[in-house]
Formats: sequence, C-alpha cells, structure tokens
Amino acid sequence: MSLPHLEFQCSKCDFESTSLKCFGRRNYRCDESYIPVSSELGWCFRCKNIALIEAFPDEKEIMGRQNLLQVLVSALEKSKESQPSEIPWHKKLLGIKPKLPEEVKELQYKITALKQHVAEDLARLKLMRDRQSPYKCLICGEEKHVYLTNVEWKRLHEQTEAIPIGFKHPFCGGEILAGNSDIRFHFKSINYVYDKEGNFIEKADG
Ligand SMILES: [Zn+2]
Ligand SMILES: [Zn+2]
Repeated sequence: MSLPHLEFQCSKCDFESTSLKCFGRRNYRCDESYIPVSSELGWCFRCKNIALIEAFPDEKEIMGRQNLLQVLVSALEKSKESQPSEIPWHKKLLGIKPKLPEEVKELQYKITALKQHVAEDLARLKLMRDRQSPYKCLICGEEKHVYLTNVEWKRLHEQTEAIPIGFKHPFCGGEILAGNSDIRFHFKSINYVYDKEGNFIEKADG
C-alpha cells in the first residue's frame, strides 16, 4: 500500500518527523470482537513527537451516519413498493426469486455496509463511555498529550512547501511546520490491537 503522508519540522531546532508511524489499523479487543479505535493526531510528551492519540468518537458524525441509514432504509422501502414483486406461483415453487433492479441492489449494499458502521459506532461509544483510564498515545501508551484539533490536516496534504501548523514545539518554542511528502513508501498494512483501556496488546500483518 502506498500512502501520502506529512513531513514535520521545527522552525527553530533540528526536529524532523513524519506522520508515517501513525498509519495502520487499530482496534480494541473486547471479549471476542474488535472495535475500531477513534483517534486524533496530537503531541505526545513521551514520544516527544506528533503521535496518534485515542479520542472520544465524533458524535455529530455518528448521528449523521444514523440519519443517513434511516434515509436509505426508507428509500429502499419506497423503491421496493414501486417494483412489481410478484412472480408466478409455479416459479415460486421452484424457488425462483424476482430479479432485483440495480437501484435496489445498490441500496441494499449501502445499507448493509452502513449498518455495520453504525453498529461499530455504538459499540465504540459504549466502550469510551465506560472507559476508566485517560486516553493514551497509541504509539507509546503515554497519557500526557495535547490534541492538535485546530490543524487543517487536509490543507496540509495539499502543501508541497512546509507551512506552520499553528502549534509551537514544546520546550523549544519554534513553530512546527508541515507539508505533504512526495516520497511514496510501500507498506504492508498492520493491525494494532489494544485492550479496553487502550493498552497495546499485539500487532499483526493484515
Ligand atoms: Zn524545535
Ligand atoms: Zn507517545
């Protein structure tokens, strides 16, 4: 897998870093199921670097998905109503089902995928509400960090020249600059697994 990524530097010292270490799939293992981790980029005081930090899921985004699911389900019902669903009895006896038009099939496909996503959202919300310990750095497990919530990450990915991200290098005071890297690395996707409290358990290829 080839990934676009950001390169970071400091305007005052020789700090240099990339966002590459933040890639990979990350899941909590709860009993026998896996729940995707929600995270944001932040500054970790142990990594002394920009790192991936656990974060409470975005509730607006979750509600948006639930609303979209309802809209799609009612669209599916409507489109089924407008289709002639009956097929002759002798074909029914042979187990022949009416052919679904493309539109209905596509809706069903989208609904199945979205249902899965919504179920994961709800599981993750519950997990994070029940959470006992503070959110951790997903790279090193440290609890001391600050989120970089005001950074326009999308815009930085469009920058070939490094520009200030609006965050000062802790204990240095220089501006952290970032820009998109045109070097492409090829990656094997890695799965990182954590327990319910965000403690790293294991990683596996895949
Ligand atoms: Zn610095
Ligand atoms: Zn860390």
